[in-house]
Amino acid sequence: MTVNAYGAHAGDQPLGPIAITRRAPGAHDVEIDIAFCGVCHSDLHQVRGEWAGTVYPCVPGHEIVGRVAAVGAHVGGFAVGDLVGVGCMVDSCRSCPDCDAGLENYCDGMVGTYNAPTPDAPGHTLGGYSERIVVNERYVLRVRHDPSQLAAVAPLLCAGITTWSPLRHWQAGPGKRVGIVGIGGLGHMGIKLARALGAHVVAFTTSESKRRDAEALGAHEVVVSRDPEAMAAQGRRLDLIVNTVAAPHDLDAYLSLLKRDGTMVLVGAPSSPHPSPQVFNLIMKRRALAGSMIGGIPETQEMLDFCAEHGIVADIEMIEASEINAAYERMLEGKVKYRFVIDSATLKA
Ligand SMILES: [Zn+2]
Ligand SMILES: [Zn+2]
Repeated sequence: MTVNAYGAHAGDQPLGPIAITRRAPGAHDVEIDIAFCGVCHSDLHQVRGEWAGTVYPCVPGHEIVGRVAAVGAHVGGFAVGDLVGVGCMVDSCRSCPDCDAGLENYCDGMVGTYNAPTPDAPGHTLGGYSERIVVNERYVLRVRHDPSQLAAVAPLLCAGITTWSPLRHWQAGPGKRVGIVGIGGLGHMGIKLARALGAHVVAFTTSESKRRDAEALGAHEVVVSRDPEAMAAQGRRLDLIVNTVAAPHDLDAYLSLLKRDGTMVLVGAPSSPHPSPQVFNLIMKRRALAGSMIGGIPETQEMLDFCAEHGIVADIEMIEASEINAAYERMLEGKVKYRFVIDSATLKA
């Protein structure tokens, strides 16, 4: 089937309308009528060819929500009309230790929702800036939020799970002091989720102007990282830091805020390396520096269910598909609170 999409034919060209084909649903496939798709920083980097390996035409988008339009003969978990989501992956090898553990995000054969090899035309996956997508049911998530919240659920599929996974893995919860560094698309979800998990949340920002917003999102304390006294006051007090900042920066300033055995997890992908941390800053308090990438399918479902139960969604600004290029520019300037979401109805001719 041919569907309307938004994408680019080269890295130096703006996104525009593009017609793409989707495979007919196979026995285990779910065909989804996309209602909304969130706009992630990865979309911008990929479509502009700023990370190696972008293939064109490129249709970004991996924060997808919508309704099931059709199901294959052997699909057991979903029916036409169900509210569903698709995140950063649409397939994986299904037989390695990572897939067996439900951590398909770490599978060497993980197939990204866009720009990954596939037998389908045109030979690479095409993402959620489109009217419809066809996905194997193993990689489809159930959305239990009220349908009126659907647009704001979309960013949970990447920004939500990217912060949820480390918060859960390092056991953020009551009695824990958790730092969230950076208050953007990822960080604003990190604050909401850490708060709902019962942790004491300390938000770090370079900008005093974000203090009120961070408090409104649920931070118990807000620290302006340019203020040495405020930073020193947090010294050796945090159990866990989820650092969402992608720009290279001084990691030691944050490592020194960890208690003994504390961990800082990096979830932002810098285009050039961070200055190396001082090893002494790690060994003196048995601190750990870790990384984490999105999350597996079972924990993504766990996160969605938790958010539905606690009424958690992202803070979004809805745009029409034709506004995407301008939205990218505002995203680069950090001028979005906190995630753009494309209304897929504006793709329809
Ligand atoms: Zn993303
Ligand atoms: Zn695998």
